[in-house]
Amino acid sequence: MAQYKNADLDAALQEAKSYIHNSEHIDLLIHAADFAKKHHEGKLRKSGEPYFIHLTNVAYILATMRQQPATIAAGFLHDVIEDCKVTRQELQEEFSEEIAYMVDAVTKVGMLEFKGKDDPEYQAANHRKIFIAMASDVRVIIIKLADRLHNMRTLQYQPEASQKRIAAETLDVYAPIAHRLGIGTIKNELEDLSFFYLNRGAYYHIAHLVEAKKAERDEAVNQMIREISDTLREQGIKFRIFGRSKHLYSIYKKMETKNKRFEEILDLLAIRIITDTKQNCYNILGIVHETYKPITGRMKDYIAVPKTNLYQSLHTTVVADGGKIFEVQIRTEEMDEVAERGIAAHWRYKEGKAYDAKAQQKEIEDKLSWLKNFSIYNEENDESATGFMHSLQKDVFEANVYVMTPKGRVIELPNGATPIDFAYRIHTEIGNTTVGAVVNGGIVPLNKELHTGDVVNIKTLKGTGPSEDWLKFVKSNQARQKIRSYFQKREAEEKENKVPEGERLLAEELKKRGLEPKEWMDKKRLEGYFKEFRVANYIDFMYGIAVKSINAVQVVEKVTNHHRAVHDEAALNRVLGKEVPHRVSKNGLIVPGIETMKMSLAHCCLPVHGDEIIGYVTKGSGVKVHRKDCANVRGIQGNMIDVQWDDGSQERLYDCDLTVIATDRSYLLTDIVTMISQNRVPIDSVNAKANHVTLISSIKISMRVKDLEQVNALIANVRKIDSVIDVKRGG
Ligand code: MN
Repeated sequence: MAQYKNADLDAALQEAKSYIHNSEHIDLLIHAADFAKKHHEGKLRKSGEPYFIHLTNVAYILATMRQQPATIAAGFLHDVIEDCKVTRQELQEEFSEEIAYMVDAVTKVGMLEFKGKDDPEYQAANHRKIFIAMASDVRVIIIKLADRLHNMRTLQYQPEASQKRIAAETLDVYAPIAHRLGIGTIKNELEDLSFFYLNRGAYYHIAHLVEAKKAERDEAVNQMIREISDTLREQGIKFRIFGRSKHLYSIYKKMETKNKRFEEILDLLAIRIITDTKQNCYNILGIVHETYKPITGRMKDYIAVPKTNLYQSLHTTVVADGGKIFEVQIRTEEMDEVAERGIAAHWRYKEGKAYDAKAQQKEIEDKLSWLKNFSIYNEENDESATGFMHSLQKDVFEANVYVMTPKGRVIELPNGATPIDFAYRIHTEIGNTTVGAVVNGGIVPLNKELHTGDVVNIKTLKGTGPSEDWLKFVKSNQARQKIRSYFQKREAEEKENKVPEGERLLAEELKKRGLEPKEWMDKKRLEGYFKEFRVANYIDFMYGIAVKSINAVQVVEKVTNHHRAVHDEAALNRVLGKEVPHRVSKNGLIVPGIETMKMSLAHCCLPVHGDEIIGYVTKGSGVKVHRKDCANVRGIQGNMIDVQWDDGSQERLYDCDLTVIATDRSYLLTDIVTMISQNRVPIDSVNAKANHVTLISSIKISMRVKDLEQVNALIANVRKIDSVIDVKRGG
């Protein structure tokens, strides 16, 4: 693996002094270093070194990136909040609000725990989004990258499981961010280090291949450098030229994604030429193309059209003598600095110029599209459709807030979300039992709007439930649904709990009337009344009785279909010794002991005065009076009521049907009709049917009679008629 400089305090300050000359600024760095050293005193890294060495290395990396003094100071201090329990307030008093803010933000971002690839919610692009949204200040990201770079450089001291996890996270989250920021050196180093820990076999394999051909390759590179240098000197062009080796991970990726053998990786031999002006870049390109044969389609002009991360350079691929293929990069010093140090180089510290963090952030956002499309790492799939970028922008910066659990798990919530939304996102039970919320260490109301970066701690109390007021302010559908379903469930439970009470009340009401609850409270029987009482089911019905929204007395009356009520009234009247005038219906019928009763004669058996009769209590149409021997009421037990003829009633006629069975002959029908007329019975209709095979006739005669006596006399007379076999009531 590549060697790096392990920088102590001296080295860090030395690097800083190479571009910071203001002694007050250098004093700030020393002050920050002293403060950090004091607070981390006695703590060791896993490597066994004092913890402070990590901080000087981070500061050193920041200085190589030509960062602001405040940023380097924050680099020294970046672990004091997390590891030494120093508060943001203390840092603000000791240094400045700006430094305190940066250290606090680095701490929060450091608490992010990204999900592993085997987690179903894993999405590397989202992690980068979250990271950048949370960091919100590019200096925070740069400190975090320096921190991660040093941690990756010392990863060998971690246990193997941690190595793999940290390396995967670096490859998924940190390297792409470094790329987005255009910090090529950090990106390449992070990738190679991750590659080493994630796939050691492939790493060594490629490293071996590179090494095996090194002498041969160096020879070819040096020859080309000599040739180009000679020409450029002749032309009087200012230049630096050097060979460079591709980093191992990029070779690996090309072999993997383009499915190429090692020998086929074209730009394995690479040369970079750095000059003074843009014009000279194009001049040099011309010279290179004159000297070597360019490969068609491999020339790229990133000077005219810079990459989204502001990278500028000319790229071409040429074939040298002996068929060796070279990738040549041509750029100015300034462009090279951008390529190596990226954004950091743009806003690097300049003596005597006041630094404005907000202005820098705005400039970055205006100038770079990376903030809009940073989730797309692979330039080749860079479908920067404006619609997509717009929605992504909305998605990250407007639609969502990213907050954390005390353990550092990131929770994505819709904008405007509250601690209640957060609680339900963690777990339904936590949401239901929330009684308080602590955000960033302070107690807040439950409807407090959360912001990206907030650390939210929910206080719960077992046995408590949500409040319906929460529905007024929650922002996530999830929380809304869970709260609603809690109340629905609770209502259902409450109803169910009330069922025995309803059953008890109804049973009591039935018993009061001498009725057997078991018989009358049959669920099937009750079902028929649900609609009438506007309930959907048995539980709602009994709940209604229990809470008195349904009157049990009414239920009993309906269910027993007046039958019992009628008897009750009669019984009551008997008990009271009350003489109740029997109400006589227009049919000449009475029900003993009751005054009012709607009654009608059944059409099936057509009772006439004097017939033995019985009343059948119908639902809704009063009492139907049948002959006792009617097939329709035979065997029915319930709902029957005693009915009597009113002997004192004025005369009326009753409908009556007779059917005469006879062997057919001439004048038969005339003889029968004559007989009926002689008995002074009016005939309404006669309907005769004759079977032509058996010659038996069936004659149905509808008539009106005074009473049973008249009917019986008529039947006896008709029977006497010649060839009549039988006469019977009914049709
Ligand atoms: Mn650190």
